[in-house]
Amino acid sequence: MSSIPLQSRLPKTYRIKEIRVETDMVKTFTFDGSLGAKPGQFVMVWLPGIDEVPMSVAYDDGAETKITFFAVGEMTKVLTHSNVGDLVGLRGPFGTYYEWDAGDHIVLVAGGYGAAPMYFVASEAVKNGCTLEAIVGARGKEHLLYLEELEGLQHCSLHVSTDDGSMGHKGYNTEVLDHLLAAAAAPIDKVFACGPEMMLKSVLTVCDKHKVPCSLSLERYMKCGFGVCGNCCVDPLGIRLCTDGPVMSGDLVRNIDEFGKYHRDAEGRKHEF
Ligand SMILES: Cc1cc2nc3c(=O)[nH]c(=O)nc-3n(C[C@H](O)[C@H](O)[C@H](O)COP(=O)(O)OP(=O)(O)OC[C@H]3O[C@@H](n4cnc5c(N)ncnc54)[C@H](O)[C@@H]3O)c2cc1C
Repeated sequence: MSSIPLQSRLPKTYRIKEIRVETDMVKTFTFDGSLGAKPGQFVMVWLPGIDEVPMSVAYDDGAETKITFFAVGEMTKVLTHSNVGDLVGLRGPFGTYYEWDAGDHIVLVAGGYGAAPMYFVASEAVKNGCTLEAIVGARGKEHLLYLEELEGLQHCSLHVSTDDGSMGHKGYNTEVLDHLLAAAAAPIDKVFACGPEMMLKSVLTVCDKHKVPCSLSLERYMKCGFGVCGNCCVDPLGIRLCTDGPVMSGDLVRNIDEFGKYHRDAEGRKHEF
């Protein structure tokens, strides 16, 4: 039996209140209603007759819920054509979340849509007196997400990196992390990261080098979202990323052999990163 209440396991429809176009391929939907999500948790987004896919909660203030998504495949390319007023099914919230102590000095590392949950963390953590360094990285400046929102937060310093050097540091956001951890005037208590798995692997290496604890958000193919189907189990631990994750400590992630090496698709076939 799952400890997740039945009303979270069943889809409920929410009306799209606002649509923001972030980039050519990325949109943010604001839904009328809260699921009571914490930063790092995800929801299953359902389009009847199409598919149901996991998405991180980009924001939940107790009144409305946001998701930020890339239109990459069958479901998300249909989702992107939704309009304000349309209904979308949401189940959740599911999974673990980022945890901090009041007054912590935290570094956030974001790649791709990982900037959305990192903004959710930042907006909540500043309310607990935390100081934040947010590092947002992308291929080029046209792909950077959530810069204005992060810049608008008090006690949050924004750092940007682009692979092509079109904005901020030319190179990876993990290089900026390395510099920050080496040069920080005040001790860094924690590093939180969300983004592509190879970025997370590099975050773990950098955090190990500087002996700073980290929490990473991992992704695997998810179906039920609440630990019954076993599709998101990882080798060799057999833990389910939808319930034991997606946010996990670096110490736990270090014991996942497949981390940074391979993942499994809907049928359980292995694919190398
Ligand atoms: C915990 C978690 C949080 C996520 N958060 C976001 C987010 O905030 N924004 C965002 O744009 N994307 C997010 N994703 C990825 C998102 O689920 C996929 O991009 C989406 O499912 C693509 O579906 P599709 O039908 O459009 O594409 P498809 O063509 O069906 O798939 C494209 C790729 O998406 C991935 N994918 C497809 N279905 C699933 C599934 N059920 N579970 C996991 N991965 C899948 C696979 O890697 C696949 O190769 C998240 C994934 C996980 C596991």
